[in-house]
Amino acid sequence: MSLSIHSSRLANRIQELARIGQIGETGVCRLAHSPEDRQAVELVKSWFEAAGLEARIDAFGNLIGRWQGRNPEAPVLMLGSHIDSQPYGGQFDGTIGVLGALEAVQTLIEEGWIPDMSIEITAFADEEGCRFNKGLFGVRGIWGQLEEGELDRVDKNGVTRRQALQEFGCDLDQLIASSYREGQVSAYLELHIEQGPLLEEMKEPIGIVTGISGPIWLTVEFSGFAGHAGSVPMKLRKDAMLGAAKVITGLNELASRVEGAPTVSTVGSVAVFPDSRNIIPERVVFTVDLRDIDLERRNRLEAELYDMIHRVALEGGLTYTITEDTRSDPRYCTDRIKKVMSNSAADMGMQPPELMSGPFHDALVMSYHCDYGMIFVRCKEGISHNPAEFAAMEDIELGVELLYRTVKRMTSVSGV
Ligand SMILES: [Zn+2]
Repeated sequence: MSLSIHSSRLANRIQELARIGQIGETGVCRLAHSPEDRQAVELVKSWFEAAGLEARIDAFGNLIGRWQGRNPEAPVLMLGSHIDSQPYGGQFDGTIGVLGALEAVQTLIEEGWIPDMSIEITAFADEEGCRFNKGLFGVRGIWGQLEEGELDRVDKNGVTRRQALQEFGCDLDQLIASSYREGQVSAYLELHIEQGPLLEEMKEPIGIVTGISGPIWLTVEFSGFAGHAGSVPMKLRKDAMLGAAKVITGLNELASRVEGAPTVSTVGSVAVFPDSRNIIPERVVFTVDLRDIDLERRNRLEAELYDMIHRVALEGGLTYTITEDTRSDPRYCTDRIKKVMSNSAADMGMQPPELMSGPFHDALVMSYHCDYGMIFVRCKEGISHNPAEFAAMEDIELGVELLYRTVKRMTSVSGV
């Protein structure tokens, strides 16, 4: 099968972007709103403009490129993903979605295609959420879904989101002006690496996503009482670390209980106060990430987790607080779009399998405001959020070709 998209141009851009914030041979660190993030946004913006898109950076730090369609008033077809990364991330997460969308659209422009509705490509700001412990920032921003006080969240260095945005060059008086109206976007498409091992296991280069399982993010804080590690008898201790350890182990058991279920839980960040080897930990704060495709089961596990935290606190003489940072329900992709994707794949002589997404994506937020569809690209051993993350160019180009064909069908006058 011959491809319409230009894989060498795409490959060059992926490599060039990976050099911004590069760590080691293959790693990337481009934290949201950082100077590296700005540099990356500027580079991709220059590519948008060279392709013929009208490009702008909004007040949330999103980069948006627009290609006017035959009916400029009609709701747009949006394509996108993100180009920020984890502190110790890889070069494919998010970037292939943005650069793949650009390649698909640029190919259409060069063919002289005139889309029925306008097409926008968005590199959403701070999808990852690692810097301010709250992700999907840019995409929530455009839909007016930022939470009270969200701009006051601080990163590890005490920099607020507000300051970081200002340093990035955003005009915070324009936040409302940067929002979208309901109905302004008809559909959203996102190409992304799978970040899981299923496609590799099935020996398939690409897949069509059926939905995204919903994450709950919590921050749990146990407080006890500090004391000398050498003198306070075990019976009299109020050790916050011990409480945290019991909950971390218990949560792991909860999520592993149903054999074969896609339930997953993770405690990925722990902070100890006063953090000294000879003082009993007075306060321990840790994060919880709990996901499932089955909402009822997730709710049950969450309730059990709350009971467990309560019980552990009682046993250990601790007090606790639980803060909810994020709560999303599982979201299913639009049938109409999955159909267009599988028809387009059939034109390529392919029959990609369908699969769910465990990780969330910008598409998760978009799903509440328009139809949506996603294409997954196989990645090596499912490794992601790690410099070892790898997707083969031959697989990426098939995904981008499918995206290109899907966009073409969805923006033709007949819309199939
Ligand atoms: Zn991503």
